[in-house]
Amino acid sequence: MLDDSRRNSEELVSEGFSSSKISSMSSDTTLSHCTSFSRLSFELPTSSPEQQAALKPHRSSDSSFQAIRFKTNLSFRDFSLVRQIGSGDIGRVYLCRLRGPVDEGRLYAMKVVDNEVLAMKKKTQRAETERKIMKLLDHPFLPTLFAEFEASNFSCVVMEYCSGGDLHSLRYRQPQKRFSLSSARFYAAEVLVALEYLHMLGIIYRDLKPENVLVRSDGHIMLTDFDLSLCSDAIPAVESPAFSPDPLSSPKAVHGSGSLTPFSCISTRLFRSKKIQTLAANRLFVAEPIAARSCSFVGTHEYVAPEVASGGSHGNAVDWWALGIFMYEMIYGRTPFAGETNQATLRNIAKKPLAFPNETPCGASEMHARDLISGLLNKDPNRRLGSKRGAADVKTHPFFKGLNFALIRSATPPYVPGSQTKKTAALRHGTAPFGVF
Ligand code: ADP
Ligand code: MG
Repeated sequence: MLDDSRRNSEELVSEGFSSSKISSMSSDTTLSHCTSFSRLSFELPTSSPEQQAALKPHRSSDSSFQAIRFKTNLSFRDFSLVRQIGSGDIGRVYLCRLRGPVDEGRLYAMKVVDNEVLAMKKKTQRAETERKIMKLLDHPFLPTLFAEFEASNFSCVVMEYCSGGDLHSLRYRQPQKRFSLSSARFYAAEVLVALEYLHMLGIIYRDLKPENVLVRSDGHIMLTDFDLSLCSDAIPAVESPAFSPDPLSSPKAVHGSGSLTPFSCISTRLFRSKKIQTLAANRLFVAEPIAARSCSFVGTHEYVAPEVASGGSHGNAVDWWALGIFMYEMIYGRTPFAGETNQATLRNIAKKPLAFPNETPCGASEMHARDLISGLLNKDPNRRLGSKRGAADVKTHPFFKGLNFALIRSATPPYVPGSQTKKTAALRHGTAPFGVF
């Protein structure tokens, strides 16, 4: 059971949590009334399974996806329940197996949402938002919606099962509950790539925390939980100050620290503007939903950005702030602004200067990590690292020097679920095959 500081603000709101600072918070993440966007429509895939599969080129060869993608009229009867693997703010997640001789053994995660309960809690819109986002996604570090169906008053989505649990639990199994720098670098890099993709789609994630970063069976990550996300149909802003038609002649914009955008991961549905397409073809792709604004108080207290804590409007920069908190927690085993109460935490976020533990002398790599975290945890969202040119700015930080973001999904992860203790030991001692530290 998570303590209150780890739970979404909306859960606490519905339980009567109050603060003068957050008096303007909405009781629902219904986005339409609090964003500057008039439309929240999506380019949704059409419903036939063939069409859906065709729109997921990066998962279409996945054998679990293949086993389920052409099935029609799915219902609970097509699955056998193995066990419940999680329960969250809007639903329960079950490990289940697809029935049938051919598909025997295939495991899936099924998120089941009780529509009646949701309606009572006024959270229907949140489940809707999550489903819409999942339909859009096709990326190695984000969940692919394999199938969905309605049964009685339940809505079910079927996705890949991540057997490695989440990074919160994994961190607790490390010595001093801290990841080594190389492991933290790996996970931060994969989260960064996932955030970049979401931002390109005009989605601000808004709920980054280790609990929402799952470990797939191959050790790579999967970001989950999109019911708090803010979506817009606006074309993300594209900036190209150092743009050159020849990517090799534009080191600042493109090549520093291997900052190539993993184009193979980008769905063609993303290319909604000719301008973006042209830039992408030239391997310069800086896309941030800069214009997306919301006034909702959403997120988990320890992870909310100062502009949210102080009740102001917020945009894409909240995800870069959360990445800073996430890195701090992975490396130091705690978040930097946690207070005795949620209100104290919010006060600290808004006012308290960032400080790092000083019990051990810190080497060059840790200095880079601190510098990156400090850039991400700039209390001014306009000066925060990532707020202008998005992931492109974060990727070029010296902490990631030598890391090839375009190939990270082929890198050996620090921990692979179910693998022999050797790999786990490598993770514990910071000698995992991944990383240069
Ligand atoms: P909610 O939106 O209700 O908070 P989540 O999507 O966060 O639900 O899921 C709740 C929990 O279920 C997660 O914290 C995680 O432990 C587990 N979970 C969710 N999706 C998966 C998955 N694909 N594989 C394994 N576990 C999952
Ligand atoms: Mg959740």
